[in-house]
Amino acid sequence: MERSECLICGLGKLTKKVSDNVFEYKGKSVAVPGYVTYACDVCGEAIVDNASLKKSGKILKNFQREVDGFLSGEEIKKIRKKLGLTQEEISKILGGGLKSFARYESGDVCQSRAMDNLLRILDAYPSVINLISEDFPNEAKQGKVVYIKEYTKKCSRKSEYSYLEKREDIDVGGDLAYGA
Ligand SMILES: [Zn+2]
Repeated sequence: MERSECLICGLGKLTKKVSDNVFEYKGKSVAVPGYVTYACDVCGEAIVDNASLKKSGKILKNFQREVDGFLSGEEIKKIRKKLGLTQEEISKILGGGLKSFARYESGDVCQSRAMDNLLRILDAYPSVINLISEDFPNEAKQGKVVYIKEYTKKCSRKSEYSYLEKREDIDVGGDLAYGA
């Protein structure tokens, strides 16, 4: 047992205690194993060890996320891999800053409800990424999808009339992509 002076009362000695601390959130509980505290034998104050605080903070955030019905970091990683994107690439496409997905996956930050919903849609319909992505990574290479920017560039080389006519031929649905 490590013992040191209590800085709060200045009288007692601190005794290290390792336990499986149980936390509750919305009626559900989660255990944090190896939770270290230092308790004073005089004033009764307990100080939580720094490493334990960090570790439990992460566990609790993930637990909260799960109870509240958000995708876990692991699940987000799976969806990202399914889309064949790096953390930086998906962050760039879906927004939230370049480090956002690194943070969602590590559990440091919980995604917004809107991002969570979007990820669930992408999990079910991965090709939807092409509607959002600026460079249409897969289909564009295979020549299946034409960028609307490229398409309008092509069209504008022709006369204004045929351009308008061509525009009417396809239903871009107000979206960015035209799938051939
Ligand atoms: Zn004390």
